[in-house]
Amino acid sequence: MSRAEIVVDLDAIAHNVGVLKELAGVTMMTVVKADAYGHGLLPVARTARAAGADWLATTTLDEARALRAAGDTGPILTWLTVPGERYDDVIREGIDLTAYSVAELDEIAAAVTDVPARVQLKVDTGMSRGGASRADWEALFARARAGEVAGDWAITGIWSHLACADEPDHPANDAQQAVFDDAIAAAEAAGLDPELRHLANSAATILRPQARYNAVRTGIASYGLDPAPSIEHGTDLRPAMTVRADLAMVKQIAAGDSVSYGYTWTAPSATKVGVVPVGYADGVPRTGSGRLEVAVGGRRRPVRGIVCMDQVVVDLGEDAEVRAGDDVVLFGPPGEGRPTAQDWAEASGTINYEIVTRAGGRLTRRYIGGSEA
Ligand SMILES: *Cc1c(COP(=O)(O)O)cnc(C)c1O
Repeated sequence: MSRAEIVVDLDAIAHNVGVLKELAGVTMMTVVKADAYGHGLLPVARTARAAGADWLATTTLDEARALRAAGDTGPILTWLTVPGERYDDVIREGIDLTAYSVAELDEIAAAVTDVPARVQLKVDTGMSRGGASRADWEALFARARAGEVAGDWAITGIWSHLACADEPDHPANDAQQAVFDDAIAAAEAAGLDPELRHLANSAATILRPQARYNAVRTGIASYGLDPAPSIEHGTDLRPAMTVRADLAMVKQIAAGDSVSYGYTWTAPSATKVGVVPVGYADGVPRTGSGRLEVAVGGRRRPVRGIVCMDQVVVDLGEDAEVRAGDDVVLFGPPGEGRPTAQDWAEASGTINYEIVTRAGGRLTRRYIGGSEA
């Protein structure tokens, strides 16, 4: 155990991937972008593959290169490039690229040598983020088909992304899906027959069976966090990440003493406080100042005052048992008084995704379960 660390339970990730695969019943893409949402790219990738992930998905080409460099030979989808990106090596490595535009297809064509590229097409179905707008579909599909005929690539998939999948009653879900169906029809009319058709993220995989098509892209739920925390769905997910630290110091303060920068909290009565050696440099949200809780000795303890770069102060009350060196759990799976990543998200005005992804800085990572432990 180090002074402050992220503990990742690979058995929980294997469990979640298995649950999601069983639920979805279609090709499973496990999203491992952003260092596997803060859980560590390579151990998570190996665990997910072993648990049944048919594909891994990353945002950048570099993330996919790291998977290949580590020996992953399975299908990998990537989805965000910029003009001037290097494509020749990832084409040779058989990594699926995603093209949003004719310009991107032209760049990919220029990089093809002996091995044809594998390219998926992304259409914008309403989110106004990446992907080709409806007005540009015809040109994109025509260019895609021409490149296929010329032997530059195989068009292996067509896909889009939902903006409101965590709100199943939002009208955008039906509207986006209808646009996606139009895009598939237009691609087919242009002579394309992409094998994979996918729209669903974690929330849609769980809440919207009709959005599963023949593949799903599950990120957050693979890590055991709920993509739609306000909706009861009963999926058996196990949070994989715990952030813990050793308590650096315990001290008594008097009624009227103030805590941390700005003196934003003043003790109404005498109390003990503890110094936790983790701060916003390690991913503790500063907006959680005075609102986050941590667990010490199996009980919730409020964070007092402002979250600093390197430390936070917690209120231990009259507890005589707590000592410097004791275990502090910042967040983790529910139980034993622990706050969850969801509790931290609510206390700091964000979503559970951001809480786990931002955990880092000087925290070390340790794996339990799986074959890495
Ligand atoms: C991040 C991402 C996902 C995964 O979303 P979750 O909500 O974490 O399941 C799927 N598709 C795309 C395009 C993404 O960027």
